[in-house]
Amino acid sequence: MLIQDKKIAIVGGGPGGLTLARLLTLKGADVKVYERDVNKAVRVQGATLDLHEESGLEAIRRAGLLEIFYANHRPDAGKLRILDKDGNIRMDDHEEGSHGEHRPEIDRGPLRKILLDSLKDDTVVWDSHFLSMEKQGDGWLLHFKNGTSAYADIVIAADGANSKIRPYINTIKPIYSGITIVEGNLYNAAINAPKLYDLVKGGKVFAFGDEQSLILSAKGDGSLSFYTGCKVAENWVTKSGIDFADKAQVFEWFKQAFGTWNSQWQELFKSDEIWFVPRPQYHYPLDQKWEALPNITMLGDAAHRMPPYAGEGVNMAMQDAYELADCLTNKAFTSIKEAIAAYEKQMLLRASAITQHTLNSTEMLHSDDAIGKMLQLFSKA
Ligand SMILES: Cc1cc2nc3c(=O)[nH]c(=O)nc-3n(C[C@H](O)[C@H](O)[C@H](O)COP(=O)(O)OP(=O)(O)OC[C@H]3O[C@@H](n4cnc5c(N)ncnc54)[C@H](O)[C@@H]3O)c2cc1C
Repeated sequence: MLIQDKKIAIVGGGPGGLTLARLLTLKGADVKVYERDVNKAVRVQGATLDLHEESGLEAIRRAGLLEIFYANHRPDAGKLRILDKDGNIRMDDHEEGSHGEHRPEIDRGPLRKILLDSLKDDTVVWDSHFLSMEKQGDGWLLHFKNGTSAYADIVIAADGANSKIRPYINTIKPIYSGITIVEGNLYNAAINAPKLYDLVKGGKVFAFGDEQSLILSAKGDGSLSFYTGCKVAENWVTKSGIDFADKAQVFEWFKQAFGTWNSQWQELFKSDEIWFVPRPQYHYPLDQKWEALPNITMLGDAAHRMPPYAGEGVNMAMQDAYELADCLTNKAFTSIKEAIAAYEKQMLLRASAITQHTLNSTEMLHSDDAIGKMLQLFSKA
C-alpha cells in the first residue's frame, strides 16, 4: 500500500476529516487528526444535516457505522414547512407523512460523536490549532498555536471554509456570492421562543420574502438553529459596525433588516440564551484546478466552500473522504502524487457541478418570487 508506514496528518476534525480518519484507519494507516477545539466536549454548533444516499450515507456505510447512525438519526427532523414573510404556511410536510426518511437527518453533535467514538482515543490531537508548516525531508513540519509541532509525510487539509492549509496548495481566491448569513443557535427554544418552537414542530422552517431568507431547524437538544440570508456588500460585516458579540446590537439589526416581515419572527432575537456568527458566503471558481502535489491535498469546505442553500456541504466533504481514502489505498497507483491527482480530478468535477447547482438555488431563494419558485419545485418533486 502506498501509504504503508507513512504518517498522515489530517488537519480539522469536522465531518470530512473524521470520516477520512476512520476510513484510513480501517485500512491500517497511521493517522492523526489535529483539531483546534480544546477537547471533545466542546459544543458543536450548526444546523441539523441530511445525509444523501450516494455521498454522506455512503461514507457512513463504508465506515461501518450505519447501525449506530440510524440509532442516532432524527426521523422527523426533515419535515419542512415553507412560509412567506407574513407568516402564512404555504407548504407543510407534516400533513403528508413520511418526508425526510429517504434523506435521514442527524444533528452535528451526534454525528461528530459517532465518528470520534469509531477512532482510537489518541487519533485526534485536541487543542492543535494549525498555524503554519514548512517542508521537512519528503514531508511537512506542522506548527500549532499551543507551541507544539508535528511531522507528517502527507498532509490533508480538512480545516473548513477558511482553511489555513489551502494556500500551500494554490492561491485561487474565493468569489463572494452576494449573500451574507447570520447563523445562530437559540437554546431552550420551547421557553425562549415558544411560538416559533411550535411552528418548527421538530422539523425545519424555510421562510422567504423581500429577497431575504430565514431558515430554522429544531435540534435534539431543544435548541433552534437558524440562519438569515441577506443580499449585502462583501464587507458588510465590518462596514455595518455591528458588534456580533453584543446581542442587543444584533437584535436591533434583525429588527431593522427584517422590519417588513411579520413581527412573529422577532421572537427569535430576544433571549440572552443565544449565539451568533456572521458568515459571508463564498464559492470557488467553477473551473478551479491546480497541479497535484506529492504530499498534500484537501477536502470538504477547504477545497470547495459554497453557500448552504442546496444542503450539499457535509455530503460533499464525506464523499471526498471516501474517494480520497479509496485513491490513497488503491494499488493501481504507483505514487502518492498519482493517487492525489486522481482524487482531485474527480473531486473538482463533482464540486463544479454541485457549486453551480448551489449557486442556482442561492439565487432562486433570494429572488423576488422565492416562494413561488420553491412551491413549483416541490410540486415537481
Ligand atoms: C449556516 C450553515 C448551514 C449549513 N447547512 C448545511 C446542511 O444543511 N447540509 C449540508 O450538507 N451542509 C450544510 N452546511 C455546510 C457544512 O457545514 C459544511 O460544508 C461542512 O461542515 C464541511 O465539512 P468539513 O469537514 O469540510 O469542514 P468543517 O465542518 O468546517 O470542519 C472543519 C474543522 O476544522 C477545524 N479547524 C478549522 N481551522 C483549524 C485550524 N487552523 N487548525 C485545526 N483545526 C481547525 C474546525 O474546528 C472544524 O472542526 C451549512 C453551513 C452553514 C454555515
